[in-house]
Amino acid sequence: MVSRVIPVDPFDLVIFGGTGDLARRKILPGLYRRYWAGQLPDDARIVGASRHEMPDEEYRAMVRAAIEEFAIEGRDDAARIDGFLSLVSFVAVDATGEAGWSELAEKIRPDLIQAYYFSVGPSLFGDLAERLHKHKMAGKETRIVVEKPFGHDLESARDLNRTLRCYFSEEQIYRIDHYLGKETVQNLMAVRFGNVLFEPLWNALYVDHIQITVAETVGVGGRGAYYDRSGAMRDMVQNHMMQLLCLIAMEPPYHFDPDAVRDEKLKVIRALDPVPPEDIVRGQYAGAEGIESYFTDVEDEASLTESFIAMKLHISNWRWKGTPIYVRTGKRLKARASEIAVVFKHPPHSVFGQKTNDRRGNVLVIRLQPNEGMNLRVTIKEPGPGGMRLIEVPLDMSFAEALGPEAADVPDAYERLIMDVIRGNQTLFMRGDEAEAAWAWTDPIIAQWEEQGDRPKLYDPGSTGPEESLMLLYREGRRWRDIQA
Ligand code: NAP
Repeated sequence: MVSRVIPVDPFDLVIFGGTGDLARRKILPGLYRRYWAGQLPDDARIVGASRHEMPDEEYRAMVRAAIEEFAIEGRDDAARIDGFLSLVSFVAVDATGEAGWSELAEKIRPDLIQAYYFSVGPSLFGDLAERLHKHKMAGKETRIVVEKPFGHDLESARDLNRTLRCYFSEEQIYRIDHYLGKETVQNLMAVRFGNVLFEPLWNALYVDHIQITVAETVGVGGRGAYYDRSGAMRDMVQNHMMQLLCLIAMEPPYHFDPDAVRDEKLKVIRALDPVPPEDIVRGQYAGAEGIESYFTDVEDEASLTESFIAMKLHISNWRWKGTPIYVRTGKRLKARASEIAVVFKHPPHSVFGQKTNDRRGNVLVIRLQPNEGMNLRVTIKEPGPGGMRLIEVPLDMSFAEALGPEAADVPDAYERLIMDVIRGNQTLFMRGDEAEAAWAWTDPIIAQWEEQGDRPKLYDPGSTGPEESLMLLYREGRRWRDIQA
């Protein structure tokens, strides 16, 4: 398979927070990979911006180090690294002051696409938008990219939307959720809406339940102070998992067009039922030999913040009424794995006389990480003599196998999304009303914990979370899929 890389139009990309962790680990290495692939035009410009003065050469050395650490595999070529670095420069700018703005404004070419990536703390998003406007750096072809978290609750998300919209139209605001940039997530839409096989079965009549798992092995690490104000609900469920849920559950859009897709996602969020306390399990990791507990990591023995959450959700619409959707996410779990599993119902009658317990429905697993891909579990006859004995086998839709090794070399989520920004395609970005609707659903759940002083259950590091989360499914005759890397 020969991949088709279509170069994007010339652009100026300013990365506010260009010396930060996200810029070094994801944004700059991602841009280098796109350069390597031939997608960046020779007259593209990438400008790093943050408060501390540094000559262009020093910034380029930092970018080179980031490429060598995060993007060098298979792309180690001094001339091409130099070629990429020739597109890069730096300006010292203070988001909250006046320093550096005139110099930055002079660098921007008003007749081209301008993309401003807000890779700074969320408290600076409003300041940046205001100053871009004040210094006349925003035109028709301007886009701003806003990192997560988009607000802390409904009120702050509304305030942020209002502030950004004072200076930019909704069509210019790209709220990034890197889960939407994953290859498999887009494949999920291709599989659902590009085939007739799945869609007729994609409803409460045939789907027993859906599981969405995002499991991490790491703890909160150096992000303890931030994480403790957020917790798994705000950090993962309100944004990433909600987006996955929307793509799984939405109606087919009339066209693969940004607003058509986002309209359908919004309807899913609005149809989510409130969640009663008995359908929620919150957890916090305990310590073990050589592993600090959550309390120690966040330096607060009294913290009531969850590092794990499992929930049973219901969508009240014609398609999904009665089909539970179980979501769980947590830190310090037994493996790093993210997947969506659509578990279909049993065949209504067993022609082969299996006992009910021996019968399993088909399961479609959409694997986000590691080993992106999909597999469909089907029942077949066990080969050989001995009558009609049934076994389950995975029908593996491994893209790499079917499409050749190039299929494994797909752009990572950030690369793809940055190119979408340049192309002006908002399909894989959250719209303002989606973000607000997600908070409107999340806020009452969190408020209830806070009112009641709800204490998360402790769980062992390396486990699958608190025992109680298993009961969420056991009590209904179901079980979680194992968390496997
Ligand atoms: P970080 O490592 O703390 O970097 C922050 C950047 O902002 C630095 O370059 C800093 O440089 C710059 N900065 C701070 N105050 C500034 C000001 N007043 N004016 C101009 N620049 C300023 O943060 P990060 O981890 O890269 O995260 C950036 C954003 O991405 C945050 O919103 C975060 O929530 C989000 N995010 C990060 C990750 C991740 O993996 N890191 C993942 C998802 C989302 P100076 O101090 O030199 O100014």
